[in-house]
Amino acid sequence: MRRNMLTICTVLIISLIFGTTEGEALANKPTHYIGLHDRLLDFKDVRVIDNDMKIPLSEITQVLYIPVEKQQGVTYLRKKGIVISYDESTKLTSKDGVELSWSPIVDVDGTLYISAKYIARQTGFKVEYIQKMKTLRIFRDDYEHMSHADYEKHIKQLLDKKQPAKPSAKPPTKPEKPGAKSATTIYLTFDDGPNKFTTINNATLKKYNVHGTFFFLGKHMKNNEKIVKTVASDGHYIGTHSMTHDKDKVYKSTKSFIDEMNEGTKLINKMTGKDAKLIRVPYGSKPHVTPAMKKQLNQNNYKMWDWDVDSNDWKYTDKDADKVVKNVRDGVNKANKSGDRNIIVLLHDRSQTAKALPEIIEWLQKEGYTIKTYEPEHHIIQNFLSDITL
Ligand SMILES: [Zn+2]
Repeated sequence: MRRNMLTICTVLIISLIFGTTEGEALANKPTHYIGLHDRLLDFKDVRVIDNDMKIPLSEITQVLYIPVEKQQGVTYLRKKGIVISYDESTKLTSKDGVELSWSPIVDVDGTLYISAKYIARQTGFKVEYIQKMKTLRIFRDDYEHMSHADYEKHIKQLLDKKQPAKPSAKPPTKPEKPGAKSATTIYLTFDDGPNKFTTINNATLKKYNVHGTFFFLGKHMKNNEKIVKTVASDGHYIGTHSMTHDKDKVYKSTKSFIDEMNEGTKLINKMTGKDAKLIRVPYGSKPHVTPAMKKQLNQNNYKMWDWDVDSNDWKYTDKDADKVVKNVRDGVNKANKSGDRNIIVLLHDRSQTAKALPEIIEWLQKEGYTIKTYEPEHHIIQNFLSDITL
């Protein structure tokens, strides 16, 4: 009896330490993650095979820029003068023509998986396993990155945000009175400026002692440098909303897309001297941002925000400013009720919005919400692509 218990306990402990086995890896949600420098890669299919984290070879080679070639049943990976090959007939891996005693590449139902640790180390990277988050972080010392401790906190936040709020979930660590809203943060965001309404909105924010986030258009920044500088020095975050806002130009190609973002960001950098890595793409990311565009955003270290609450402010005239207030109120109530603790509100630098803004802020403050500007060090994921790397 005692021996049986011992066996069961040992098995339990082993599975706790090593997480999933091959069989469990079929669940939709990844149980293990791969990081690259400060990012968390969105591999959906990270498997633990023989106590080793393995990922689809075709995906990791793209991320690490390793050319792959297949010839007569042999797959070749070539990087930095080394050649790694996998022979599908013998199921063995070789490095520079010499067979390895174990195979870091395995075939699972016709898809090749490769050991993340192995391929990283072979191509000049280091790896660190962040035990608590079940994340293998791939990094290089000569490439700037945050400390492992900060990275652990960072991905914890990313993954917490990613998990849908469960009604049965434990209450937040800070106990709060029923109905208290201080734990919910509202991010007021203003698109399409800078223009004269930006100045009014900025004055309103100042009056109520709160900060917003502005997504400026390059074409307007050029003629309104003074407004850009004032908004930045007043403590609001500024990100770009493209140069032209023209759907046909921005989304014409991957290149035109990333060029618009880079140019807009460069303008902000030049005018304010500040980081501007958070962007908002015109008309929202879905369905306009393609996988290739998304990849460019990753490679250029951008983060991208869509929104939780649409004020639909652009639809109204000044005399219907109260409808803008109502839309925000309804949207925020609904999002808060659903368990969203970081609510991003879409507004524009327009006349009707400038009229509605005082009432919006007064209502939010009366309800007890916290209003904040975007903080890069506490990035919140909110994009319609559901991409955790953005
Ligand atoms: Zn816009």
